[in-house]
Amino acid sequence: MKTRTIRWVIVLATISLTGIIIIQILWFNKAFQFKEKQIDQTIYISLKTVAEKMLMYNNNPAILIDPVTQVSSNYYTVMINDIIHAETLELYLKSEFQYRGLFLDFEYGIYDCTNKKMVYGNYIESDKASFRLKPDVPSPTVLPALTRDNYYFGIYFPNRSEYMLGQMDMWIFTSLVLLVVVIFFAYTIWVLLRQKRLSEIQRDFINNMTHEFKTPISTISISSEVLMKPDIIKNPERLLNYATIIHNENKRLKKQVEKILQMATVEKENLKLQKEALDIHELIRKVVRNMEATLKDVQGEITLFLDKNPVIINADNLHLTNILYNLLDNAIKYSKENPKIEIHTQNQKNGVLLTVKDCGIGISKEDKKLVFDKFYRVPKGDVHDVKGFGLGLNYVKVMTETHKGNIKVESELGKGSSFLLYLPK
Ligand code: ADP
Repeated sequence: MKTRTIRWVIVLATISLTGIIIIQILWFNKAFQFKEKQIDQTIYISLKTVAEKMLMYNNNPAILIDPVTQVSSNYYTVMINDIIHAETLELYLKSEFQYRGLFLDFEYGIYDCTNKKMVYGNYIESDKASFRLKPDVPSPTVLPALTRDNYYFGIYFPNRSEYMLGQMDMWIFTSLVLLVVVIFFAYTIWVLLRQKRLSEIQRDFINNMTHEFKTPISTISISSEVLMKPDIIKNPERLLNYATIIHNENKRLKKQVEKILQMATVEKENLKLQKEALDIHELIRKVVRNMEATLKDVQGEITLFLDKNPVIINADNLHLTNILYNLLDNAIKYSKENPKIEIHTQNQKNGVLLTVKDCGIGISKEDKKLVFDKFYRVPKGDVHDVKGFGLGLNYVKVMTETHKGNIKVESELGKGSSFLLYLPK
């Protein structure tokens, strides 16, 4: 898919999803407020009816005007202006709430205006079909007594918020479904962008590889054409020169093919290591010896700071050698001039810490997170003066982890890098 099309798909889908989320929030809010109002009203009517019934019970002909006061979202007081008989009140409250289907726990307390305190009360539990007294709750309950010069009772609904949410179950369900849709959408976008990035990386890799192979192949081709000319025999100096070119280009090609083969190894499932007891110090010395010619070319040097005790680990000789080659190769490639490299080893309790340190160009903080990714090369604008496929460090990381070790890099731009490789014994 084209980048522009992908961008449009993402923008439009994000706009429509945001719209749907906003509408859902607005409707949820409205439904919540509506439910809240409905419950408040049911409570109000129930309590007013209970107050009227209480007066009737006392044969009091008075008419109550606005006896119910909502003190807070879940606390009400009901002014009776007459003696309140506790058992009757509890009975009326239960039957009224049952009649209106308001199965909600409640606590009530009767206020004694002569002593200015709550004198009686109970906690009544509801099981969605009936009410019963909750055991072990002291009577009177701890309802606040509001100093009012008359008889009233207070009623408190401790679980009102939970009850409200219970009433909103359909809305909560649809909101959860929407959340799943949003998560799924975000995941799809992530996969799409990753896929796109991968295909770009792959395309760059193929371009890079074609370029890397083309140059030595054409150099070899031209040089061999020269060598085929009969009069070259008369000029041994030229002959040697072209033969050397062919040899060097061939070495370059071999190195590149090896890099690509390393990638194939990394991708192999169920990779089997040929483990054996290896003397790390011996292996390091061997690799450094083999790199002497390359080092001479660039006038570099490698200094060894090896642990005084020998380090023997159980590892795959070939892969461990390749790991070291890759790290040293990079240390040389990414040093501007005369690479100065240090290799340190340190015996640890259950393993060995091997550090390859250079004084090269260094790696920025952002790139440090990415250099171990397959095909990743630190962007250098259009020109890449140092050749590579971005495969070496990925191979190093995968192989280290296959050995149950780990690798990390410490680096600062312009100040060099240290690759710290830990391998278990
Ligand atoms: P490449 O083939 O590009 O060298 P690598 O996987 O070995 O691939 O390295 C990935 C990138 O990490 C390199 O392109 C380079 O930008 C950066 N890098 C690796 N080693 C070093 C180093 N020692 N110093 C600075 N940059 C490094």
